[in-house]
Amino acid sequence: MNDSLPVIRINQSGYAASLPVQVAVLSSEHVVVSDPHGNTVKTVETGNLPVDEASEDKVKVLNLGILPKGEYYIWSGGESRRIIVRDDPWQKVTNALIKGLYFQRCGCGLEEKHAGIYKHPACHTAPAHIWENKDNAKTVTGGWHDAGDYGKYTGPGAVTVAHMLYAYLLCGKGCSDELNIPESGNGVPDILNEARFELEWLLKMQREDGAFYHKLTKDHFAPFIMPQDDLDPEYLIPVSHCATAAACACLALSSRVYGDIDKEFSGRMLSASLKAYEWLEKNPDFIPFVNPEGVRTGMYGDKSVTDELFWASCELYASTGDGRFKESAEKYYSDDMNLSSYGWADVSGLGAVCCLFEIGEKGGDLLYRKLKDRFIETCKKISEISGKSGYGTALPANAYIWGSILLIMSNAMSLIMYELLTGDTSLRPAALLQWNYALGLNALDLSFITGFGERRVMNIHHRPSGSDGIKDPVPGLISGGPNKYMNFPQTKEKLADIPAAKSFLDELPSADTNEIAIYWNSPAIFVGAFFSSLCK
Ligand SMILES: [Zn+2]
Repeated sequence: MNDSLPVIRINQSGYAASLPVQVAVLSSEHVVVSDPHGNTVKTVETGNLPVDEASEDKVKVLNLGILPKGEYYIWSGGESRRIIVRDDPWQKVTNALIKGLYFQRCGCGLEEKHAGIYKHPACHTAPAHIWENKDNAKTVTGGWHDAGDYGKYTGPGAVTVAHMLYAYLLCGKGCSDELNIPESGNGVPDILNEARFELEWLLKMQREDGAFYHKLTKDHFAPFIMPQDDLDPEYLIPVSHCATAAACACLALSSRVYGDIDKEFSGRMLSASLKAYEWLEKNPDFIPFVNPEGVRTGMYGDKSVTDELFWASCELYASTGDGRFKESAEKYYSDDMNLSSYGWADVSGLGAVCCLFEIGEKGGDLLYRKLKDRFIETCKKISEISGKSGYGTALPANAYIWGSILLIMSNAMSLIMYELLTGDTSLRPAALLQWNYALGLNALDLSFITGFGERRVMNIHHRPSGSDGIKDPVPGLISGGPNKYMNFPQTKEKLADIPAAKSFLDELPSADTNEIAIYWNSPAIFVGAFFSSLCK
């Protein structure tokens, strides 16, 4: 399996001069690090190679220690791999991941001066029809295309913005201001400029009574055409509890972050959040969202709204200080919540982040002390999972699902937050291995971020990349990665009996392994921003 791949796996975008160089080796011969003139810099013994459960490779992670900036060759088993060590290697990647969202902008043209060869005219500018009453239309332009399709979904958009805002709050030094987006240079950090583009749209997704429409899509997925050519009508698909609670949480958080930047905008967001909360109180019976008959776009169904209500209550308490929100956060909290879950389906971790970093001691015994202990316990378990993996990947072999990159990046976020919370840097190497995973240190020897790495994904399931006639995909987008529970028959056929961590096709039709999504970019932004912040 993959015998032709190199025996040394590296972060293909380079390494930092201030952090240890981690590589994975599939050869039991010792590793030699040499300079470009062939002089040996150091030798590291490899020892026995255990079998990695997720990939079935015999492989081991080696820590080559700190290397001063420069060019090196890593030798083992008669092969070598070139690496570059720089002072600040990952700001470019992090910037590209943020700008990846700019490339998803809808309702406006992408101009050449910002988008280069990926420019295109405005898309999806017509008013949207209300699904239940199709004669009624509303202008809801803006927002980001969600993923490989052109839909715009409230819950996924809300968590994406939240990841970005927490990246700004907790790792701000790693969020550079050189994105070259239309708002660049306006005095506001570009990560907040980009997030605002989604927030302005999110505000339009609220119905008069406070509820939020679940999504704004057509009734079917577009074929692989450019967004400006996708002219079939769009619909505001009925409101849902989960969309309303996720938007409520995100807007409460955003109202704090933009408070000093734009008071009017911040106030609008807090009012919208409170109105959403009011609707949720008046409509306490949870109804899971299902696609109305005739709608075949992404469902983003959810079995529970308790985690969204927990997150919303936490953010509203942090924003208003009103004790009733603390009470409801305590009511919705439970000990079996996964505090490392930051994705669109389970947002418990976002509530936890709010408690740990924004509410702090004011959370008291339950929302601070107990939650903090549980969070720390969760992080230690994640680090153990990474320790057991031959590639250091913080994901058990049975957890490679559609969008496994979300789980890996989420676990990296938790490991990073452990450090930010405790000051203990002992889990940092495990966190760094996840960043290295995204950029090539993995069983596929593949960088999952478009535009970065000598061997990188090229055929992502992404309509603009698949229809613009340009060889290279839109840069700065992260692929969902291996999925052992392949959903498409053609993927299943090609990947039968392939180990979990290799269940991946760099092929355009394989949405189940190679789609991109805004809410996979955003946890990677958090991780990239943290490691970039360490390089300043
Ligand atoms: Zn569009």
